[in-house]
Amino acid sequence: MMRLPHFTFHAPREIREAADLLAAAAPGAAMLVAGGTDLLPNMKRRQQVPSTLIGLRQVAALRQISNGSASTGLGAGELTIGAGVTLSDLVRDLRERRASSAPSSPYAGLSQAAAQVATPHLRNMGTIGGNLCLDTRCNYYDQNYEWRKAIDFCMKKDGETCWVATSSPRCLAVSSTDTAPMLMALGAEVTLVSADRTRRIGLSELYRNDGIHYLTRQPGEILTAVHLPRLDGWRSTYWKLRRRGSFDFPVLSVGAALKLSSAGVVEGGRIVLGAVASRPVDVPAAAIDALVGRPLSDESIAAAASAAAQPAKPMDNTDFSLVWRKRVARDFVAYALRELRGDDMRDVRRQIARQLL
Ligand SMILES: Cc1cc2nc3c(=O)[nH]c(=O)nc-3n(C[C@H](O)[C@H](O)[C@H](O)COP(=O)(O)OP(=O)(O)OC[C@H]3O[C@@H](n4cnc5c(N)ncnc54)[C@H](O)[C@@H]3O)c2cc1C
Ligand code: SF4
Repeated sequence: MMRLPHFTFHAPREIREAADLLAAAAPGAAMLVAGGTDLLPNMKRRQQVPSTLIGLRQVAALRQISNGSASTGLGAGELTIGAGVTLSDLVRDLRERRASSAPSSPYAGLSQAAAQVATPHLRNMGTIGGNLCLDTRCNYYDQNYEWRKAIDFCMKKDGETCWVATSSPRCLAVSSTDTAPMLMALGAEVTLVSADRTRRIGLSELYRNDGIHYLTRQPGEILTAVHLPRLDGWRSTYWKLRRRGSFDFPVLSVGAALKLSSAGVVEGGRIVLGAVASRPVDVPAAAIDALVGRPLSDESIAAAASAAAQPAKPMDNTDFSLVWRKRVARDFVAYALRELRGDDMRDVRRQIARQLL
């Protein structure tokens, strides 16, 4: 049985108190823990070994979901999701209050992404903030201590070599969060709070293409909220490739959001690929430009899907063959765009879940 290492635990009730505790800790000694569904297994495997944990579950201010209005001070139509909202609560809220299961809802993709993270038990504990800050993954890293020691560790923890690409100067571990690609496609921003400042940045700016330093978040910063802009006329969808249909990390994902006119003409959009690099990857603007100003035809979807899959350069450090995953990127973008057009894609989704494609 793998045991947790010893650590000191703090349970602040206010964001300010949590930020002060983080600021007072020695550099690198303290980590935040929300649901603990990523961090605690990592600590058992000695991939992350903080001597202090600052728990966020008692901070009520992190568990709110609010709509923008004059009284909240948020932008009209904006949706703000506290970082401590669990994935189960988020899915419930989106489904009940915002009718996100309707394919035409702007939140449909976010609901699909959050609902496909891990298992129901883990979604009851796991939070949206923890999901956005999820550690990057690699076959050579997601192993117990003894396994990693047997290969003399690797650059991401305790070693010097990258076993995926031995000449690589940087770690190529893969961003495996389900919600980040979808939230980026929806144009989300995040608020980061430290003891001495608060800043709001585009979610895309939170990520770096570096498997070790994959976040631009400073050590003293707490991600407190995710903000979605007003999304009138937008539709979204999320497609995920994984080994087990019941639960598994994505080995490729597509978050797609389009703004359509009432006549079905594309007015704008974003497509973001997940699990193809150490950060979620925006597809080239050319792929979206090819769609804007016209309805979604089979030809424009095929052209956009080919262009969109260009940045997918999967490495050989997760599941399935990398050549096949690259091909699936193009197919998944096409499926996503067809679904946003209004095609009934339920059979295709069922076949993917049963690995029949
Ligand atoms: C069996 C299994 C299957 C899984 N499958 C998936 C999957 O399919 N898709 C997926 O995306 N994830 C998956 N996960 C990972 C995890 O369950 C989810 O990503 C979950 O949302 C993490 O949230 P958490 O609150 O538990 O994070 P924690 O474990 O508490 O924290 C994760 C990281 O985020 C940091 N952090 C947490 N909150 C904040 C904050 N507010 N500000 C700054 N940093 C913060 C922590 O310091 C830590 O580094 C799986 C985990 C397991 C064990
Ligand atoms: S990509 Fe290389 S350095 Fe990074 S976790 Fe994998 S083997 Fe280690």
